[in-house]
Amino acid sequence: MKIVLATSNKDKVREIKEILGENIKIYTTKDYNINNFEVEEDGETLKENAYKKAKTLYDILKVPTLADDTGLFVKSLDLRPGVYSHRYAGDNPTYKDNRDKLLDELKNCENRDAYFKTTVCFIDDKGKDYYFDGQINGEISKKEYGDKDFGYDQIFKVKELDKTFGQMTDEEKNLYSHRSLALEKFKKFLLKEEFNEDIGNK
Ligand code: IMP
Repeated sequence: MKIVLATSNKDKVREIKEILGENIKIYTTKDYNINNFEVEEDGETLKENAYKKAKTLYDILKVPTLADDTGLFVKSLDLRPGVYSHRYAGDNPTYKDNRDKLLDELKNCENRDAYFKTTVCFIDDKGKDYYFDGQINGEISKKEYGDKDFGYDQIFKVKELDKTFGQMTDEEKNLYSHRSLALEKFKKFLLKEEFNEDIGNK
């Protein structure tokens, strides 16, 4: 079975491929000559946005698709930026613009608790949708740590490890992250469904 990722975000593609491992064959929109796959993320929930991305690609390709929508939810900010994490600092912000805005908004806040949540939507070959969630609690650091420039990674600290995701290797982040928690559920689902035969040990 082919699964195509409904994203053009190279950081997500890298992580998703690493988490799913070699036994699950993952294709990207580029493999289908679709460049800059973009969907307007106008849903009010991660689930709505994940569905919209997966469904848009499914309607084009008619093969199983997988999409992830992720948000960073900060307690002191009434759970903002949440579902709007992508365009937090404006229409076309860099990752750094978003981090700077968050650090600025939190500069006088004692409580820096936050969580990352990912909702994964899988649409199978018959067009049926399935959802898998992953969440990790942590806190927003006072400044950036680490050199992994992916989204909010350099300012999201996992308390038990006293390290930001930006300071972790990919392998380490994948042991804890919201994305891997959601995708591990997806993997289990694939193994117990009829897809089993297709992905088997290939
Ligand atoms: P999206 O809507 O799922 O593309 O994600 C929203 C934004 O959250 C992205 O533009 C990134 O800035 C950020 N983001 C998503 N996943 C991660 C992650 O694993 N670590 C840090 N930031 C992330």
